[in-house]
Amino acid sequence: MSRAFNFCAGPATLPEAVLKQAQSEMLDWRGTGMSVMEMSHRSDEFVAIADKAEKDLRELAGISDDYAVLFMQGGASSQFSTIPLNLLGDKASADYVNTGVWSKKAIAEAKRYGSVNVVASSEDSGFSTIPDQAAWNTSADAAYLHYTPNETIGGLEYDFIPESGGVPLVADMSSTMLSRPLDVSRFGLIYAGAQKNIGPSGLVVVIIRKDLLGKARKETPTMMNYQVIAENGSMYNTPATYSWYLAGLVFEWLKEQGGVQAMAEINARKARKLYDFIDGNDFYANPIDPRFRSWMNVPFTLADDALNGDFLKGADARGLLNLQGHRSVGGMRASIYNAMPEAGVDALIGYMAEFAKERG
Ligand SMILES: *Cc1c(COP(=O)(O)O)cnc(C)c1O
Repeated sequence: MSRAFNFCAGPATLPEAVLKQAQSEMLDWRGTGMSVMEMSHRSDEFVAIADKAEKDLRELAGISDDYAVLFMQGGASSQFSTIPLNLLGDKASADYVNTGVWSKKAIAEAKRYGSVNVVASSEDSGFSTIPDQAAWNTSADAAYLHYTPNETIGGLEYDFIPESGGVPLVADMSSTMLSRPLDVSRFGLIYAGAQKNIGPSGLVVVIIRKDLLGKARKETPTMMNYQVIAENGSMYNTPATYSWYLAGLVFEWLKEQGGVQAMAEINARKARKLYDFIDGNDFYANPIDPRFRSWMNVPFTLADDALNGDFLKGADARGLLNLQGHRSVGGMRASIYNAMPEAGVDALIGYMAEFAKERG
């Protein structure tokens, strides 16, 4: 049995070395006689696993002691409500930038809790570009400014960190976290569902500047109160222990690869190769403004949609899986996160060239 190249947007491929390590530790984690899955989250062993994962993440992402790192549940989507509940405080509204499906969902949820000011939108362009920040209608009095650095479905990615003045900047980094170096100090809050670039689903990592803790509305569910989660080391209740452990293995793997700087070089090369191929071949197209093309999610269309089924069938037969685009966009999408080896991108390009030659 050989492993396929899995281009799924999420849950996404994990490093093979990580899966093998988890396999070797499955029945007996380091002499404890049990799987990590079966351990008490209060045991010394699990607490050590959890602490090591946080320490490695802090080291990889350069997270200072000014920030709390939380390992929560409910995915990135639950953060869409957790954020306004915790951060609106006594402010009248929050600023949001609309660049695609995930921004829209964040906006819709925030509207349940307060007034949302959509400061800019690229909807008119079919979400093919990022609105110029000079024209954003931000408010100095907003509770926070929320944006989506990488729109996983559209394949649209910021190549800059927005200026937010004194307003806390909040970012949904679900599909871009740890893909390259990041200046965390620019942010009030960063959140990322794990199943794209961090580990298995069931976990969402939240990095929050400590001065933003303790402002939750009183009706905020305890499980969504950042201060409660922070004070309890993300163990107010039973955390997603196995996902946390696997995320820790991914962090160790990233360190062995040379950290986020090394990943950035590989990721940039993988993306460049694929976009160069698409641009250089009449049969394929990508609709995104080249400046804002995602390194992580590469949507593309075939010259004739009627060939989509055959394209996917041929890809499957070669072990190139999950290339179908999101149902809301159509076409194809190749997600090429940290764990997708460069050989996977090469194999995809090889197949795309062959298919275009035969059917184009
Ligand atoms: C996948 C994704 C989400 C949703 O994540 P869930 O963990 O399924 O809730 C939100 N935002 C972005 C940018 C995503 O890529």
